[in-house]
Amino acid sequence: MEFGDGFDQADAYAERALALMRERKIPPTPKNFTVWYAYVGETIPDLRKAMDVLISNKQGFDPTQNAELYEKYFSSSDEGLAVQETGRKIEDQMTQILAMLGQASEGADDFEASLKSGLGAIAKSDGLGGIKAAVQQLVAETQKMQSSNQKLQEKLENSSSEIESLRQNLEEVQREAMTDALTGIANRKMFDAVLRRAAMEAMEDGAPLCLALTDIDFFKKFNDTYGHQTGDQVLKLVARIMKENVKGRDLAARYGGEEFGVILPHTAIADAKTVCEQIRNTVASKRIRNRQTGEEMGNITLSLGVALFRPGEPLSELIHRADEGLYFAKRHGRNQTVLEDQLDTIEAD
Ligand code: GH3
Ligand code: MG
Ligand code: MG
Repeated sequence: MEFGDGFDQADAYAERALALMRERKIPPTPKNFTVWYAYVGETIPDLRKAMDVLISNKQGFDPTQNAELYEKYFSSSDEGLAVQETGRKIEDQMTQILAMLGQASEGADDFEASLKSGLGAIAKSDGLGGIKAAVQQLVAETQKMQSSNQKLQEKLENSSSEIESLRQNLEEVQREAMTDALTGIANRKMFDAVLRRAAMEAMEDGAPLCLALTDIDFFKKFNDTYGHQTGDQVLKLVARIMKENVKGRDLAARYGGEEFGVILPHTAIADAKTVCEQIRNTVASKRIRNRQTGEEMGNITLSLGVALFRPGEPLSELIHRADEGLYFAKRHGRNQTVLEDQLDTIEAD
């Protein structure tokens, strides 16, 4: 994120951002400041809109909210920086290796030249002394070559282990960028990428692809009654159950807030329903209890909607149909799975 403001402008924005944060008792950490500076400077229209809604709804800016705002609007640039940095280090290593190989080939050329001159000296020599001197020279050159080769070998080994650790680093950054921080399952970014790929493959191989969307029932009330942190534990539980009930190339992801998505390639809609019902029943069967206090909090239910991909359609339409199923389930008593092909028949009643 670039902030190209001049001194006076930036100074004014910074003052204003700090004042707004102070009013709301938001700690002026670098991350929070980044968010509020961007808000004041109107550099990111979506962030501005989202924060205006939060402010007008009188939403508190607690640490979770602050972290989410930063994560949503800025963390991808952190990730981008980490990737850039790792890429630069790998480039450095490559340059070093190329330089070493260049030196080695120069060394080999020198070695070849001294071998030739040694052989010439032997041919020309007319006595044992001359041969001996030429051989000694060759032995010395060979040892030099060996030791420089050994150094090269060591340097190459170091470089390759350095590159290997950079590669792992990069993988880690990429994995983190695709994982939801709270629940540890795939995040929306991963969901979008996998759904795009699954749709492409469904068009290639003609196999059915289903999408399920699910939303926790009355979750606001649960949060209001038992607190946001307990709510977070429930989100983790639901995520774990979803993950445990999908397999192979299926993907369970946190779609947003208290909504999750399941991508089911090579799955007919009736089979997708079986998976959804399994998830729904498992969640509904859990008695939520506070481990510390022993307090019973009843159980949580899910509503789910399932749609079948129509090859060639935009993904927004597939998502929309799954959403329609989900909201139909909400309107008709919650705690149920509704398939898109049920919509036409049951909407009439
Ligand atoms: P419905 O059955 O119609 O879905 O009702 P609901 O109360 O679940 O729906 P609503 O959209 O009104 O509320 C969603 C709630 O989900 C509000 C918000 O507090 C909660 N929520 C969203 N994200 C999180 C989160 O990360 N942690 C916690 N604890 N709660 C969250
Ligand atoms: Mg919701
Ligand atoms: Mg809900």
